[in-house]
Amino acid sequence: MDALKVENLSFGYTEDKLVLDNLSLSIHPGEYTVLVGQNGSGKSTLAKLFIGLLQANSGDIYVFDQLMTPSNVEFVRQDIGIVFQNPDNQFIGSTVEDDIAFGLENRCVKSEDMDAIIHEYAGKVGMLDYLKHEPNRLSGGQKQRVAIAGVLAMHPRIIIFDEATSMLDPKGKKEINDFINELKQKKETTIISITHDVEEISIADRVIVLKDGHVFYDGNPDGILNDEKKLKEAKLQIPFMMKVKDALAKKGINVNANNIEGMVEELCQYRSRM
Ligand code: ADP
Repeated sequence: MDALKVENLSFGYTEDKLVLDNLSLSIHPGEYTVLVGQNGSGKSTLAKLFIGLLQANSGDIYVFDQLMTPSNVEFVRQDIGIVFQNPDNQFIGSTVEDDIAFGLENRCVKSEDMDAIIHEYAGKVGMLDYLKHEPNRLSGGQKQRVAIAGVLAMHPRIIIFDEATSMLDPKGKKEINDFINELKQKKETTIISITHDVEEISIADRVIVLKDGHVFYDGNPDGILNDEKKLKEAKLQIPFMMKVKDALAKKGINVNANNIEGMVEELCQYRSRM
Protein backbone atom coordinates (compact mmCIF):
# COMPACT_ATOMS: atom_id res chain seq x y z
CA MET A 1 0.00 0.00 0.00
CA ASP A 2 1.21 3.50 -0.80
CA ALA A 3 0.56 6.46 1.48
CA LEU A 4 -0.01 8.68 -1.54
CA LYS A 5 -0.20 7.73 -5.18
CA VAL A 6 -0.59 10.00 -8.16
CA GLU A 7 -1.41 8.61 -11.59
CA ASN A 8 -1.16 10.60 -14.80
CA LEU A 9 -1.94 13.85 -13.04
CA SER A 10 -2.20 17.01 -15.13
CA PHE A 11 -3.05 20.46 -13.86
CA GLY A 12 -2.91 24.02 -15.17
CA TYR A 13 -4.13 27.28 -13.64
CA THR A 14 -4.88 28.44 -17.17
CA GLU A 15 -5.99 26.52 -20.23
CA ASP A 16 -2.87 27.27 -22.23
CA LYS A 17 -0.22 26.09 -19.73
CA LEU A 18 0.10 22.89 -17.71
CA VAL A 19 1.96 23.27 -14.41
CA LEU A 20 1.95 19.50 -13.88
CA ASP A 21 2.02 17.37 -16.99
CA ASN A 22 0.96 13.72 -16.77
CA LEU A 23 2.73 13.22 -13.46
CA SER A 24 2.88 9.83 -11.74
CA LEU A 25 4.54 9.07 -8.43
CA SER A 26 3.99 7.22 -5.20
CA ILE A 27 5.01 7.95 -1.63
CA HIS A 28 5.60 4.98 0.67
CA PRO A 29 4.23 4.84 4.22
CA GLY A 30 6.65 5.90 6.94
CA GLU A 31 9.09 7.35 4.44
CA TYR A 32 10.62 10.80 4.66
CA THR A 33 10.44 12.20 1.14
CA VAL A 34 11.90 15.51 0.09
CA LEU A 35 10.16 17.11 -2.88
CA VAL A 36 12.55 19.56 -4.41
CA GLY A 37 12.74 21.70 -7.53
CA GLN A 38 13.42 25.26 -8.52
CA ASN A 39 10.84 27.97 -7.85
CA GLY A 40 7.80 27.56 -10.04
CA SER A 41 8.39 23.85 -10.71
CA GLY A 42 4.95 22.97 -9.32
CA LYS A 43 5.76 21.70 -5.80
CA SER A 44 3.14 23.73 -3.92
CA THR A 45 0.59 23.09 -6.63
CA LEU A 46 1.12 19.35 -6.18
CA ALA A 47 0.71 19.72 -2.39
CA LYS A 48 -2.58 21.57 -2.91
CA LEU A 49 -3.77 18.80 -5.23
CA PHE A 50 -2.76 16.20 -2.59
CA ILE A 51 -5.13 17.78 -0.07
CA GLY A 52 -7.89 18.51 -2.54
CA LEU A 53 -7.53 22.30 -2.44
CA LEU A 54 -7.14 22.20 -6.21
CA GLN A 55 -8.75 19.80 -8.65
CA ALA A 56 -6.72 18.13 -11.35
CA ASN A 57 -7.60 18.51 -15.04
CA SER A 58 -7.03 14.79 -15.36
CA GLY A 59 -5.50 11.91 -13.44
CA ASP A 60 -6.06 10.30 -10.07
CA ILE A 61 -4.84 10.72 -6.50
CA TYR A 62 -5.01 7.88 -3.99
CA VAL A 63 -4.53 8.33 -0.23
CA PHE A 64 -3.77 4.99 1.40
CA ASP A 65 -5.26 3.29 -1.67
CA GLN A 66 -8.47 5.30 -1.52
CA LEU A 67 -9.25 7.27 -4.69
CA MET A 68 -9.84 10.93 -3.84
CA THR A 69 -13.10 12.20 -5.32
CA PRO A 70 -15.02 15.47 -4.81
CA SER A 71 -17.47 13.62 -2.58
CA ASN A 72 -14.92 12.00 -0.22
CA VAL A 73 -12.22 14.69 -0.22
CA GLU A 74 -13.12 16.02 3.24
CA PHE A 75 -12.92 12.52 4.69
CA VAL A 76 -9.72 11.49 2.89
CA ARG A 77 -8.04 14.77 3.82
CA GLN A 78 -8.25 13.85 7.51
CA ASP A 79 -5.23 11.64 6.98
CA ILE A 80 -3.13 14.55 5.76
CA GLY A 81 -1.78 17.48 7.74
CA ILE A 82 -0.13 20.33 5.88
CA VAL A 83 1.94 23.29 7.03
CA PHE A 84 2.24 26.04 4.44
CA GLN A 85 5.10 28.48 4.06
CA ASN A 86 2.84 31.35 5.04
CA PRO A 87 0.61 30.10 7.85
CA ASP A 88 -1.44 33.33 8.08
CA ASN A 89 -4.47 31.76 6.43
CA GLN A 90 -4.20 28.66 8.57
CA PHE A 91 -5.06 30.23 11.96
CA ILE A 92 -8.59 29.86 13.20
CA GLY A 93 -8.28 30.33 16.97
CA SER A 94 -7.97 33.75 18.58
CA THR A 95 -5.06 32.56 20.74
CA VAL A 96 -2.28 30.08 20.11
CA GLU A 97 -3.90 27.74 22.62
CA ASP A 98 -7.32 27.96 20.94
CA ASP A 99 -5.78 27.43 17.57
CA ILE A 100 -4.10 24.15 18.52
CA ALA A 101 -7.30 23.13 20.39
CA PHE A 102 -9.44 23.75 17.31
CA GLY A 103 -7.69 21.03 15.33
CA LEU A 104 -7.97 18.65 18.25
CA GLU A 105 -11.70 19.32 18.63
CA ASN A 106 -12.13 18.41 14.98
CA ARG A 107 -10.44 15.11 15.75
CA CYS A 108 -12.86 14.57 18.64
CA VAL A 109 -10.08 14.55 21.24
CA LYS A 110 -11.61 14.49 24.75
CA SER A 111 -11.56 17.90 26.41
CA GLU A 112 -9.81 16.55 29.52
CA ASP A 113 -6.89 15.33 27.34
CA MET A 114 -6.59 18.53 25.39
CA ASP A 115 -4.57 20.67 27.78
CA ALA A 116 -1.79 18.13 28.08
CA ILE A 117 -1.58 17.72 24.29
CA ILE A 118 -1.53 21.49 23.70
CA HIS A 119 1.24 21.92 26.26
CA GLU A 120 3.22 19.01 24.86
CA TYR A 121 3.25 20.29 21.29
CA ALA A 122 3.59 23.99 22.10
CA GLY A 123 6.58 22.92 24.19
CA LYS A 124 8.08 20.88 21.36
CA VAL A 125 8.12 23.92 19.08
CA GLY A 126 9.25 26.32 21.84
CA MET A 127 5.97 28.27 22.08
CA LEU A 128 4.80 27.48 25.61
CA ASP A 129 5.18 31.11 26.71
CA TYR A 130 2.87 32.26 23.92
CA LEU A 131 -0.25 30.16 24.55
CA LYS A 132 -2.40 33.21 25.35
CA HIS A 133 -1.03 35.29 22.46
CA GLU A 134 -2.91 36.14 19.28
CA PRO A 135 -1.40 34.14 16.40
CA ASN A 136 -1.68 37.09 14.04
CA ARG A 137 0.57 39.21 16.23
CA LEU A 138 3.43 36.74 16.23
CA SER A 139 6.53 36.96 14.05
CA GLY A 140 6.65 34.93 10.83
CA GLY A 141 8.89 32.30 12.44
CA GLN A 142 6.68 32.07 15.54
CA LYS A 143 3.62 31.65 13.33
CA GLN A 144 5.35 28.80 11.54
CA ARG A 145 6.14 27.16 14.91
CA VAL A 146 2.46 27.39 15.97
CA ALA A 147 1.24 26.03 12.64
CA ILE A 148 3.65 23.09 12.97
CA ALA A 149 2.49 22.40 16.55
CA GLY A 150 -1.16 22.47 15.43
CA VAL A 151 -0.57 19.91 12.71
CA LEU A 152 1.70 17.63 14.77
CA ALA A 153 -0.78 17.57 17.67
CA MET A 154 -3.39 16.04 15.38
CA HIS A 155 -1.17 13.05 14.53
CA PRO A 156 -2.12 12.82 10.86
CA ARG A 157 -0.79 9.76 9.05
CA ILE A 158 0.82 12.00 6.43
CA ILE A 159 2.39 15.40 7.10
CA ILE A 160 3.37 17.78 4.31
CA PHE A 161 5.75 20.59 5.22
CA ASP A 162 5.62 23.14 2.41
CA GLU A 163 8.67 25.36 3.06
CA ALA A 164 7.32 25.26 6.62
CA THR A 165 10.49 26.48 8.34
CA SER A 166 11.48 29.12 5.79
CA MET A 167 10.97 32.03 8.19
CA LEU A 168 12.83 30.48 11.11
CA ASP A 169 16.37 31.49 12.04
CA PRO A 170 19.04 28.75 11.80
CA LYS A 171 18.61 27.80 15.48
CA GLY A 172 14.82 27.58 15.14
CA LYS A 173 15.16 25.60 11.93
CA LYS A 174 17.49 23.15 13.63
CA GLU A 175 15.12 22.70 16.58
CA ILE A 176 12.20 21.91 14.29
CA ASN A 177 14.29 19.73 12.00
CA ASP A 178 15.56 17.76 15.02
CA PHE A 179 11.98 17.17 16.01
CA ILE A 180 11.00 16.12 12.48
CA ASN A 181 13.99 13.77 12.56
CA GLU A 182 12.63 12.20 15.76
CA LEU A 183 9.33 11.69 14.00
CA LYS A 184 11.17 10.20 11.04
CA GLN A 185 13.00 7.64 13.23
CA LYS A 186 9.68 6.31 14.52
CA LYS A 187 8.61 5.51 10.92
CA GLU A 188 4.95 5.93 11.88
CA THR A 189 4.29 9.13 9.99
CA THR A 190 4.77 9.64 6.28
CA ILE A 191 6.61 12.94 5.91
CA ILE A 192 6.84 14.99 2.73
CA SER A 193 9.03 18.03 2.93
CA ILE A 194 8.73 20.50 0.08
CA THR A 195 11.75 22.71 -0.24
CA HIS A 196 14.05 24.48 -2.63
CA ASP A 197 16.86 23.91 -0.12
CA VAL A 198 19.04 21.13 -1.51
CA GLU A 199 20.83 20.81 1.84
CA GLU A 200 17.73 19.05 3.16
CA ILE A 201 18.09 16.26 0.60
CA SER A 202 20.82 14.41 2.47
CA ILE A 203 18.59 13.56 5.45
CA ALA A 204 15.72 12.17 3.36
CA ASP A 205 14.90 8.53 2.66
CA ARG A 206 13.85 9.51 -0.81
CA VAL A 207 14.12 12.50 -3.12
CA ILE A 208 11.72 13.53 -5.85
CA VAL A 209 12.87 16.35 -8.08
CA LEU A 210 10.25 18.21 -10.11
CA LYS A 211 11.20 20.08 -13.24
CA ASP A 212 8.89 21.71 -15.75
CA GLY A 213 5.88 19.78 -14.50
CA HIS A 214 7.61 16.38 -14.68
CA VAL A 215 9.38 14.09 -12.26
CA PHE A 216 13.02 14.68 -13.18
CA TYR A 217 14.51 12.40 -10.51
CA ASP A 218 13.01 9.90 -8.09
CA GLY A 219 15.41 7.95 -5.92
CA ASN A 220 17.79 8.01 -3.00
CA PRO A 221 19.67 11.16 -1.94
CA ASP A 222 23.07 9.90 -3.14
CA GLY A 223 21.84 9.44 -6.70
CA ILE A 224 21.29 13.16 -7.08
CA LEU A 225 23.74 14.62 -4.56
CA ASN A 226 26.68 12.87 -6.24
CA ASP A 227 25.64 13.93 -9.73
CA GLU A 228 26.60 17.52 -10.39
CA LYS A 229 25.27 17.32 -13.96
CA LYS A 230 21.82 16.25 -12.76
CA LEU A 231 21.76 18.98 -10.10
CA LYS A 232 22.58 21.57 -12.73
CA GLU A 233 20.02 20.20 -15.19
CA ALA A 234 17.35 20.40 -12.49
CA LYS A 235 18.55 23.96 -11.84
CA LEU A 236 19.30 23.10 -8.22
CA GLN A 237 22.04 24.69 -6.19
CA ILE A 238 25.19 22.70 -5.64
CA PRO A 239 24.97 21.67 -1.96
CA PHE A 240 27.60 22.96 0.44
CA MET A 241 28.76 19.40 1.21
CA MET A 242 29.42 18.78 -2.47
CA LYS A 243 31.49 21.94 -2.74
CA VAL A 244 33.57 20.80 0.27
CA LYS A 245 34.00 17.34 -1.29
CA ASP A 246 35.15 18.90 -4.56
CA ALA A 247 37.61 21.14 -2.72
CA LEU A 248 38.98 18.14 -0.79
CA ALA A 249 39.22 16.06 -3.99
CA LYS A 250 41.37 18.78 -5.54
CA LYS A 251 43.76 18.26 -2.60
CA GLY A 252 43.77 14.51 -3.30
CA ILE A 253 41.41 13.61 -0.43
CA ASN A 254 38.35 11.68 -1.59
CA VAL A 255 35.40 11.34 0.76
CA ASN A 256 32.07 9.63 0.05
CA ALA A 257 29.82 10.87 2.84
CA ASN A 258 27.01 13.30 2.09
CA ASN A 259 26.59 14.55 5.63
CA ILE A 260 28.85 16.39 8.04
CA GLU A 261 29.10 13.55 10.56
CA GLY A 262 30.12 11.04 7.87
CA MET A 263 32.61 13.43 6.36
CA VAL A 264 34.24 14.17 9.74
CA GLU A 265 34.45 10.41 10.38
CA GLU A 266 36.18 9.80 7.02
CA LEU A 267 38.57 12.70 7.59
CA CYS A 268 39.48 11.32 11.04
CA GLN A 269 40.17 7.92 9.47
CA TYR A 270 42.24 9.61 6.78
CA ARG A 271 44.28 11.46 9.43
CA SER A 272 44.87 8.29 11.44
CA ARG A 273 46.30 6.59 8.31
CA MET A 274 48.81 9.40 7.79
P1 ADP B 1 6.78 25.93 -6.56
O1 ADP B 1 6.04 25.55 -5.32
O2 ADP B 1 7.60 24.81 -7.12
O3 ADP B 1 7.59 27.18 -6.41
P2 ADP B 1 4.14 26.55 -7.61
O4 ADP B 1 3.39 25.28 -7.56
O5 ADP B 1 3.88 27.56 -6.55
O6 ADP B 1 5.72 26.23 -7.70
O7 ADP B 1 3.88 27.25 -9.01
C1 ADP B 1 3.97 26.55 -10.23
C2 ADP B 1 3.56 27.49 -11.35
O8 ADP B 1 2.19 27.82 -11.21
C3 ADP B 1 4.33 28.81 -11.39
O9 ADP B 1 4.56 29.13 -12.73
C4 ADP B 1 3.38 29.79 -10.75
O10 ADP B 1 3.56 31.08 -11.26
C5 ADP B 1 2.02 29.24 -11.15
N1 ADP B 1 0.99 29.53 -10.13
C6 ADP B 1 1.03 29.21 -8.82
N2 ADP B 1 -0.10 29.59 -8.19
C7 ADP B 1 -0.88 30.17 -9.13
C8 ADP B 1 -2.19 30.75 -9.09
N3 ADP B 1 -2.92 30.80 -7.99
N4 ADP B 1 -2.68 31.25 -10.27
C9 ADP B 1 -1.97 31.17 -11.41
N5 ADP B 1 -0.73 30.63 -11.51
C10 ADP B 1 -0.19 30.13 -10.38
